[in-house]
Amino acid sequence: MRTVQGVAKFVSPNELEIAGSDGKTQLLRFEQCIIAAGSQAVKLPNFPWDDARVMDSTDALQLADVPKSLLVVGGGIIGLEMATVYRALGAEVTVVEFMDQLMPGADKDMVKPLADRLKKQGVIVHLKTKAAKVEASKKGITVSFESATEGAKPELESGTWDRVLVAVGRSPNGGKLDAGKAGVQVTDRGFIPVDRQMRTNVPHIFAIGDLVGQPMLAHKATHEGKLAAEVAAGEKKEWVARVIPSVAYTDPEIAWVGVTETEAKAKGLKIGVGKFPWVASARAVGIGRGEGFTKLIFDEHTHRIIGAGITGVHAGDLISELALAIEMGAEAGDIGATIHPHPTLARRWRWRPRCTKARSPISTSRRRNKRAAVADSKAPASPGLSLCAAAPLRPPHGGVAGFGRDGVPRGVQGAAGAMRAGAPMGAAGSGRNPPWLAAATVIWR
Ligand SMILES: Cc1cc2nc3c(=O)[nH]c(=O)nc-3n(C[C@H](O)[C@H](O)[C@H](O)COP(=O)(O)OP(=O)(O)OC[C@H]3O[C@@H](n4cnc5c(N)ncnc54)[C@H](O)[C@@H]3O)c2cc1C
Repeated sequence: MRTVQGVAKFVSPNELEIAGSDGKTQLLRFEQCIIAAGSQAVKLPNFPWDDARVMDSTDALQLADVPKSLLVVGGGIIGLEMATVYRALGAEVTVVEFMDQLMPGADKDMVKPLADRLKKQGVIVHLKTKAAKVEASKKGITVSFESATEGAKPELESGTWDRVLVAVGRSPNGGKLDAGKAGVQVTDRGFIPVDRQMRTNVPHIFAIGDLVGQPMLAHKATHEGKLAAEVAAGEKKEWVARVIPSVAYTDPEIAWVGVTETEAKAKGLKIGVGKFPWVASARAVGIGRGEGFTKLIFDEHTHRIIGAGITGVHAGDLISELALAIEMGAEAGDIGATIHPHPTLARRWRWRPRCTKARSPISTSRRRNKRAAVADSKAPASPGLSLCAAAPLRPPHGGVAGFGRDGVPRGVQGAAGAMRAGAPMGAAGSGRNPPWLAAATVIWR
């Protein structure tokens, strides 16, 4: 493999011109190409970007010192992750958000435990607030605000901060590559449309990652990158994943996958919702973090899980089991019927959850148990353990489930769920993986 460093632009369907940092350019010919040029932070036009005290998320990650006061413009995932970190480091943090809730992509109830904790920690939040005028002076960066509701008075009129972080979204880099010279279509917003094999409209040019569309997430980009490489190598593959989980690494973490409750209602889907508050989880209470909860959204008629959300510590680790449940077409009751070890954060459907509308997952599971009794009679009694006992497959590094460095046991839940749903070994990974690797994908997170 050869690496060429520089800024690339297309000059024809089979050629790129690469400008190096030394000012020299070189021409690179290719038979196939995967475009993975990503995205960049949206820079609000009225901000003095030449002042180092005004930062985007890349600057905020490289900061050499901690400001006394920080304004975060944008209460989305990145803004709130940064707010959490900077508050923990001792900065006085204020967050302003244009919408009427923090983290607008997530359900409001999922975000509330985080909003409550931020408030307790002294982070000031103003919703429905828009940064309007910005001035840099020796004293700091002074920002004045407008209300997002026309004619209304803003919650906060103005203020001065040592530093300002603008985290209002990211825009794709598709429009910066002269892709038109290769005949590749780019939308007005800079996205490059692709098919289920990650091919652009020019069959030998693929595109992946942030510049092909939302969600702009690393695990989506890597999944797409692997698929594009396999297709370019001649394999007959296409995108088959139903869902892509999202995680906010705030404290508590917020993770969701599939349809959100808000989205389901907006689409008029007939759903049931099961909620399990972590205050009833021995593990969560034991570590003093009972503020979280788990939510399942399932089809009212079929009881299949179509979405899930978790707010709480390690939500980002726990969401994988629910992503797998959706991929395998599991019913809400399957989670309750899967034995989870006690005491773990994953053991949340042991008790009857509060359900709206549809039958509860637990009663579903009882009915299902009756139906499944005959079919399951040949199945091993303990799914978690039986995976290791039944499988002649052993990951090369040994072991089946373990404790993380933080003492939280993890690893076997997804495997137990997969066994219950009758997943083939490759289901959680690629069907082309060697068998031990598929097992490892199921077992290890
Ligand atoms: C602050 C922050 C936190 C994040 N946290 C998470 C997280 O916790 N989990 C998660 O899943 N995602 C996270 N993301 C999103 C994640 O980083 C992106 O979704 C992911 O990196 C996208 O991968 P990509 O390959 O499309 O683009 P990138 O990783 O951005 O890579 C694109 C690369 O192409 C280079 N490039 C651009 N144009 C050219 C050109 N013309 N010629 C040559 N090179 C070029 C760029 O310099 C860059 O190195 C975060 C993003 C930010 C900004």
